[in-house]
Amino acid sequence: MSGPGPRLRVNPIRCDGARYCAEIVPELIGLDEWGYPIVSSAQIDDPRLLRLAERAVSECPRVALQLARLRDRDR
Ligand code: SF4
Repeated sequence: MSGPGPRLRVNPIRCDGARYCAEIVPELIGLDEWGYPIVSSAQIDDPRLLRLAERAVSECPRVALQLARLRDRDR
């Protein structure tokens, strides 16, 4: 696979702060003082972290997490 890795995004309206995501991939998701996720905006190029990020996205009970790639014109 080539090109820059995707970034995690959280939809704060959907998120209920149940924190599953931060347990799955603490390297990319921290928690604020109320337990809501603070998601790293870094591109994820490490395959191991990308697999964990994909798992966090698929296991989020509120479908609040996304992995998104920037298009060239958005960089
Ligand atoms: S798993 Fe989903 S709903 Fe739960 S804290 Fe993470 S983003 Fe929010």
